Amino acid sequence: MNTVTLKPSKEKSLLRRHPWVYANAIEHVDGKPASGATVVVRAHDGRFLARAAYSPQSQIRLRVWSFDEAEPIDHAFFKRRVQRAIAHRRTFVQGTGAVRLIFGEADGLPGLIVDHYIQDAPAGSAAPGQLVCQFMAAGVEAWKQAIVTALVGATGCPNVYERSDVTIREKEGLAQTTGVLAGEEPLETLIANENGVRYHVDVRTGHKTGFYVDQRDNRALVQAYAQDRDVLNCFCYTGGFSLAALKGGARRVVSIDSSGEALALARANVEANGFDAARAEWLDADAFRTLRRLVDEGERFDLVVLDPPKFAPAREHVDRAARAYKDINLSGFKLLRPGGLLFTYSCSGAIDADLFQKIVAGAAADARVDARILKRLGAGFDHPLLAAFPEGEYLKGLLLQIV
Ligand code: SAH
Repeated sequence: MNTVTLKPSKEKSLLRRHPWVYANAIEHVDGKPASGATVVVRAHDGRFLARAAYSPQSQIRLRVWSFDEAEPIDHAFFKRRVQRAIAHRRTFVQGTGAVRLIFGEADGLPGLIVDHYIQDAPAGSAAPGQLVCQFMAAGVEAWKQAIVTALVGATGCPNVYERSDVTIREKEGLAQTTGVLAGEEPLETLIANENGVRYHVDVRTGHKTGFYVDQRDNRALVQAYAQDRDVLNCFCYTGGFSLAALKGGARRVVSIDSSGEALALARANVEANGFDAARAEWLDADAFRTLRRLVDEGERFDLVVLDPPKFAPAREHVDRAARAYKDINLSGFKLLRPGGLLFTYSCSGAIDADLFQKIVAGAAADARVDARILKRLGAGFDHPLLAAFPEGEYLKGLLLQIV
């Protein structure tokens, strides 16, 4: 068995059950483990610490599979991990057509994302679902077939599509790739029902796996508070929050995105739900400029959603990202009528919840409004956060009301 021995005292994070080991913590490697091969990790004094996947090119050289010395890493291991993840969703996430089945480290499968879309079909008719996977580390790449078999077996869903077209794979020495892993090509017209709203999901070319599954609970919250409100949804993508607002009885919904393709699906979503298209306006434009223009024109709303892309992909972008978050939140506050609600998000892992709250508070001060935090927001139950791995928290949001 290939063995990796750590430098003195570098075992501490593993003893706290953090699942990563960086290259600079390694003293020596015995054997010649291939990319993704399983290695035994030992402390400097030879104590067993974990079994892990070896990634020779990545700075994150090891990702832990198991801290249990008695647990071999084989097909049965992946079957157990997949079944455990799915059992968790069956308990905590029900009645939705879009579920994250596997959320990487938090499910003991570092580097793996799997979303399950269930085709919205009339009651009683059988509709095949669609699983969509992203393999983002050497370990899960090496066990891809075992994982796909386990997923099909545990869900009964025969169709598995891969969306590993993510740049992060390059850090693992892996090429980007997409395609069918099992079953049929994804449907062009896949529609998932979430909170009573039907959403087209473009599995092949949409963002991530086709849909922002992580915002489900937050879309439900917008739906709950949209009645008779004028709503602005900025960075709307395929209309997630816009459709939720329409379902919740919003008077008017203005949505902004710079992707024409995303807006085309958003419009199709209005139709698929039979909503009044006259209540929805879609602006194919840059959000930063459009927000400032709306402020200048004296537009006002009762509910504003700001859910931008990741402004800080890495630590070195934090300052610039902070300015961008402040800019849009400043406009957001200025656009709200008294009593209005702001749902504001950051999905930048490099900006933690405290910093995000400070940025938003700064924007409120500059807009000269008193803003009250009604609720701190995050992703749903299908995106658990491993206590030993706070890096797993990426989506954070605030629901504020201006007084
Ligand atoms: N809120 C959405 C997800 C948003 S993803 C949901 O719940 O489904 C971020 C979106 O921001 C993408 O659709 C992208 O096209 C858009 N975007 C990125 N930069 C932009 C810009 N400068 N102006 C407008 N839209 C932008």
